[in-house]
Amino acid sequence: MNIPFNKPYLTGKETHYMYDAVQTGKISGNGKYTQLCQNFLKEKYGFGKCLLTTSCTDALEMAAILINIEPGDEIIMPSYTFVSTANAFILRGAKIIFADSRKDHPGIDEDSIEALISAKTKAIVPVHYAGVACNMDKIMDIAQRHNLFVIEDAAQAIDSFYTGKDGKKRALGSIGHLAAFSFHETKNIISGEGGMLAINDNQFIERAEIIWEKGTNRSSFFRGEVDKYGWVDMGSSFLPSEIIAAFLWAQLENLQMIQERRLKLWNIYLTELDDWAKENSVSLPVIPSFASNNAHMFYLVFKDITSRDKIIAQLKSKNILSVFHYLSLHSSKFYANKHDGRNLPETDRYSECLLRLPMFYELDIDKVIDAIKS
Ligand SMILES: *Cc1c(COP(=O)(O)O)cnc(C)c1O
Repeated sequence: MNIPFNKPYLTGKETHYMYDAVQTGKISGNGKYTQLCQNFLKEKYGFGKCLLTTSCTDALEMAAILINIEPGDEIIMPSYTFVSTANAFILRGAKIIFADSRKDHPGIDEDSIEALISAKTKAIVPVHYAGVACNMDKIMDIAQRHNLFVIEDAAQAIDSFYTGKDGKKRALGSIGHLAAFSFHETKNIISGEGGMLAINDNQFIERAEIIWEKGTNRSSFFRGEVDKYGWVDMGSSFLPSEIIAAFLWAQLENLQMIQERRLKLWNIYLTELDDWAKENSVSLPVIPSFASNNAHMFYLVFKDITSRDKIIAQLKSKNILSVFHYLSLHSSKFYANKHDGRNLPETDRYSECLLRLPMFYELDIDKVIDAIKS
């Protein structure tokens, strides 16, 4: 029996709600299911305004438009991330200033950020890698002192939290001015393709709705706030159809059950692999004291690329699919000649030495653990 890296989990209600959406005849965006999902997430996690999008990539693109990125503006983000984090700003002419990762975690090295700020810097984009929080107190403090926006790439961070110096526990995605989530089928909560923009700074709310609806004031028209709707700003078609939102609603209704199962699996990996990891100089994931764990991902960090690739091959021979992750964006084919030449050794280390193990609701975890230990 094959063990894939990921298998989308269905709660059983997805097609029921999709059928309902179709039956009611409202299948374009911003209907009943979109409202249900947006309100649920806003209430549960204390986000500002929530807008569903067709992907996290789209939510990041909306964020870049909202903070008025212009050619030449600089954005600071980790090099160890997905291309969409960078592309959203590249599309508007920005230059990306890549930061290195932490030694103990693939997330951005918060202490390296300040030295990267210039007169052109407009925003910091922390990525909560594996759903584990960046040090948001440090990042928000730097942003405030330098008058920068913070856009959280919370693609992997649903149902994960940050506890600040003030002792308050806040949901990831509720702290930055804006935050982008993904409901891609590889994430914890899914809708095939899908995402959401959380708007925590009120100054962006009105314009976000306009950009979301192709640059029109259609949303306020349907609320009866204006008597005609027209073209009032730039925008695009960022909102998903009700069919997608209906699928997502079935997932959100079962969020707690999905999260409990994933956490259980994650903790089994941690306990069962502890001795093996020590004997083989492999590091297991570190959760900083200010972060919670949403069990998005279980990864191993090997001492070098050779030992990692050996395990990939061994698992593959037992029909278990494990995969490495990001290739450093600062040395990518597209960006290497635009990068300023700084070495980012931790980023390169994670590119070469990190391995993700299968993680999904119906995983037969004993098989994976046995295969690794053998
Ligand atoms: C998955 C992911 C994205 C992209 O999400 P889509 O919904 O597929 O656009 C962006 N950033 C990070 C860190 C991701 O993990």
